[in-house]
Amino acid sequence: MSTSDLTSAVGQIQQVAAARFLSKPLYIAAKLGIADLLAAGALPVEELARRTHTDPSALYRLMRCLSSVGIFREGEARLIELTPAARLLVSGEGSLRPMVLWLGDPRVDHIWENFLWCVQTGKTAVEKTHGKPIFEWLKEDAELAQIFNDAMSANAVIRYASVVGSYDFSGIKKLVDVGGGYGALMERILKATPGLRGAVYDQPEVVVGAARRMSAAGLADRCEAIGGDMFKDAPVADAHMASLVLHDWDDDRCVTILRNCHRACAPGGRFLIVEMVTPGPNEPSFAKMLDMQMLALAGGLERTEPEYAALLERAGYRLNRVVPTRGPVSVLEGVKR
Ligand code: SAH
Repeated sequence: MSTSDLTSAVGQIQQVAAARFLSKPLYIAAKLGIADLLAAGALPVEELARRTHTDPSALYRLMRCLSSVGIFREGEARLIELTPAARLLVSGEGSLRPMVLWLGDPRVDHIWENFLWCVQTGKTAVEKTHGKPIFEWLKEDAELAQIFNDAMSANAVIRYASVVGSYDFSGIKKLVDVGGGYGALMERILKATPGLRGAVYDQPEVVVGAARRMSAAGLADRCEAIGGDMFKDAPVADAHMASLVLHDWDDDRCVTILRNCHRACAPGGRFLIVEMVTPGPNEPSFAKMLDMQMLALAGGLERTEPEYAALLERAGYRLNRVVPTRGPVSVLEGVKR
């Protein structure tokens, strides 16, 4: 290996091994609400320290570190300002602050201490740490559950907008959102697609929220909220959709969901999988990183396009096309044979 190759290889290892030296400062900046304090304009670090009850010198070093990667900017005389990236940390709709607060939470770090066990056994590290699956554990910590839910909703706002802006739903008469939760995605699709009728299909206790949302949005006449079990059946429609549902389940469970929808539509009917698509070997991708969180915490997995195609195929659909969105997810369109 040449000296320059060696230097760059060393840099690569250092960067990955020390990723925490960036992720922790980012977490602390989000926790302290630094971006909110800067939303109205730049402030000297001393003022930021005063308002956040932190040590000025330590806070300066934290901001200097984050500014070195383009998150915040350090001007003359330790004046700190937002960058486009830091602007995403300002609280409000579409903010990434809740996601940063969830990913960096010390209670989540605690679970990662058992990541070796997780890799050795293929079970989630949550099980080793807390003896139960993630959602059971979250039920015991209301504050963390709130952080988790806020993170998922923040993420969803970005995802929904990108799906509605990229996939044309206008050819569909009736669309069922399987595992559609509180109906936020369906609401946006219906608003963007006049003439489309919808149904949100989810667990009975969850669809109550969807029914409420549709009424509030004046969409109750165009959208049903149907409680049930996607492993048993699916409402009849000409298209079914599952957004961030299949990545929670193993292949056999996914095929059961798909087959139930397949039975509930005519030939030519569609199944729309809304998921991140994991690219092939060696290609960098956030999906491959988030998949580590799925392994350690959630117990599901991120899949490649051929893997999704195989799931559709097993259930009697053919993968017709993959529609990328401006966001991290794609729409994989299956058509019933
Ligand atoms: N589609 C939403 C939510 C995904 S979370 C989004 O894109 O944000 C997964 C959803 O699957 C949850 O709403 C959960 O209640 C639902 N779910 C889990 N098990 C289910 C079952 N057996 N039948 C129907 N829905 C189920």
